[in-house]
Order: sequence, then C-alpha cells, then structure tokens
Amino acid sequence: MSSLTNSIKFLLDVKDKNLIFFDFYLADDQVTKILVAELKLPLTQCPTCHGPLVHNGHYLSMVHYPAYNASHPLQIKLNKQRLFCRHCHQTFLASSSLVDKGCFFAKPGKQKILQELTTDRSMKEIAQANNVSNHTVLRVLTKFGKQPRANDYDYLPPHLGVDEFRGVGRQLHFICIDGASHRIIRVLETRLRKDIVAYFNHFPLTVRKQVKTITMDLNSYYQDVAHELFPNALVVIDRFHIIQMLNRSFNQLRTQTMKQFAPGDQRYKLLKFYWKFYLKPVADLKCDKLKYYHHLKRMSNQAFIVDEGLDASPKLRSTYELMQTFSKALRTHDEQEMIRLLNCKDDLGKQMKTTLKTFNRNQKAVINAATSKYANGCVEGTNRKIKQIERTAYGYRNFDNLVTRIMLETKNAVLKENTLSAIA
Ligand SMILES: [Zn+2]
Repeated sequence: MSSLTNSIKFLLDVKDKNLIFFDFYLADDQVTKILVAELKLPLTQCPTCHGPLVHNGHYLSMVHYPAYNASHPLQIKLNKQRLFCRHCHQTFLASSSLVDKGCFFAKPGKQKILQELTTDRSMKEIAQANNVSNHTVLRVLTKFGKQPRANDYDYLPPHLGVDEFRGVGRQLHFICIDGASHRIIRVLETRLRKDIVAYFNHFPLTVRKQVKTITMDLNSYYQDVAHELFPNALVVIDRFHIIQMLNRSFNQLRTQTMKQFAPGDQRYKLLKFYWKFYLKPVADLKCDKLKYYHHLKRMSNQAFIVDEGLDASPKLRSTYELMQTFSKALRTHDEQEMIRLLNCKDDLGKQMKTTLKTFNRNQKAVINAATSKYANGCVEGTNRKIKQIERTAYGYRNFDNLVTRIMLETKNAVLKENTLSAIA
C-alpha cells in the first residue's frame, strides 16, 4: 500500500483493506474535494462453481463522506471492481464496510447524523451541518425507528408512572415510565382505555402482578384502568399535583378577598404583592429581622405580613391553615393527620371545598401519596423534554418519528457500536 492510501485512511478512519486510494483533486466547482479510490474484490475463484474469474471493469459510484467543513463537501469516487465467471456467467461486485450496497452515503455520515439526532437540534439544522438533504436525515431517523424494539413481554418494573402529553395533531398520547430508572416503557398513540388495556394485556397476568405502585395525576381516569390491569398495584396520586391543587384553591380565595378592598388599601397590598409568602411553609417564613417593604411603605417581616394579610377574612385564614397543615402532613408522611383534614368541617373557600371533595373521592390514592416514596416527577420531567423536542421541530406530523426522536433524545435508546452499524 502506498503512503497516500495509508494517510487518507488514517485521516478518514477507514479500515477496509480492499480500499485503495490513488488520487485526489478539487472538483470543477472549486469547493468539493474528491478522493479517487478503487475497491478490490478479494476473490480468485467463483464461489458457486469454483471456476476462474476474469476482470469485468468497474462500477463507479460517488460516495458522500462526512467532511470536517460542511462548506467543503467530501466525495469518494469509488471504483468498485467487477468480476465475471466464464463458467456460470455470474458477475460479482465488490462491496465495502464503508458504504451500503446501492447507497451513496457513507456509513460514518449516517452514524454522525444519528448521534446528532440525540441532541436538541432540528432535523433541518442537522441536514445543513452535514451537507445532506432533509430527507436523508429523516431516513436515518426512520431506519433507526424501524429497528425491532424490545418486545419482551415477560417483565414490568415494580414502579410505574403514567401520564399524557400533547403531540401529533394536538392529540393526547399516553406515556408510561419506569419510576426507578426513569426509562420510557411505552408511548401509545392515544390515551383511550381500549388501547391502554390492549397494550398491557400483552403482558401475562403473572408479570402484571409484579407491579407494586402506579403514580398518576388526579384528573385522569387511569385509576380504574390501573386497578383492572394491575391487581396488586397501589395507585398513588402525585404529591406535586396535590400541593398544586391546594395552592390553586387558596390563591383563588386570596384574590377574591383581595378584590373586596380598594387598591390603595393596606390589606389589598398585603394580599397582592406578597402572595409568595402565603405559599411558603410556615416554618420557612422569616420572622426575626424587620425590613423595609416598598409597597407597604413601612418596616415588617414575612411572618407579620402573612398574619396581617390573613386578618382580612376568617375564611381566608382557615383555608390557609388547611393548606399549610395538609402540605405539612404530606411532607411528614402523617397519614392520620391527612385523614382528619380530609373530613375537615371548617369554613373554607368554595374552591378548597371542591378540592377536598375530589381528594375524598380518591381518598386511598391520596393517602398513598404520603406513604409512597415514588412521585411522578420523572414523568413530568420527560413531558417537559418532549415539549422541547416538539418545539425545536415546530411540531411533528408523524407519530412514529416523534416517538423515535423522544427515545433518542431521552437516551432511552443506547447507542452502542452495534446499533450504529445496524442502522446503516
Ligand atoms: Zn461460476
């Protein structure tokens, strides 16, 4: 081998022994770099009839290779050797690990694109950076998606988290995540009961019985489905959603109370500008030093402000107390206290009463939130990521492509050497 071949191969990281580079030049456009190579076919006799082979010319293909600089595309003018068997009249064409049969885009390029598809970049941007068409990028994506997914229906993780997100065509898709490892188990195109049941029914009952907890948010009808499919599972309402509902109910009453006063009134200001203090746990309120509060035009501290603000209405105070004690019970895993609070008969705001009614309807699942250490944070986090993926692409029209991209970007698909070679 000449030193030219060796240095080019070293630079391009090509390991194919049958490939020999013998020339390079700039194309007529003065930007495209062209390397000329011959691809040998290492055969001496016909594999079928063992007859002698004769040289039968070359098949020329221009192979697109990833370049360091996208404005200087690199192409390999590949002369694939062809051999002919005089005995059985068969022809043989040389093939290489560099490029697939019938393909003009080198494998390292595909791997580079696949790697870039795991980052938060639009497909158009990836296409531009690699000097290929948008369609080539899409083809790499779909090809990867076509890989048979792990279809083993003999295992389910003990802790599941379920939720939904808005995706293709503003439709809601169902998502199920492993609560411990945070891996996506499945994304279903719809969140219809029949589809969810159909999917999980692939798993035998013995496998479904292994599921111990299922976390979900309150306003979903997944509870019935969960009880039906996973007989041993504990349904847990996500703590975040419980707190959110409590806070929202309190805030609604706070604004209602606030609007009873004129904007110049001290009570109005106390309830309007310092709303964040009311949502803080009581223990976290600063109550030592006095500080000047701009809106009140006087010295005060956080604890005083909350106390003075709640003086505006007794109903507001009782609602505040319920919100605070309930959150505290949830944080300290105090089951008894939570049951007591659920049956609270205090004079509460209208919204808070509705919230308590909702909690009571799902009492068991709400109490489980205090005892279980699993929450739906991972699902919410994944949903946030999915939203970002959709935004970067300005939305997806194809559900399968969206799922493939989600799997790639959430690192669910482990990109190993063999996966990379399999996509090509
Ligand atoms: Zn032959």
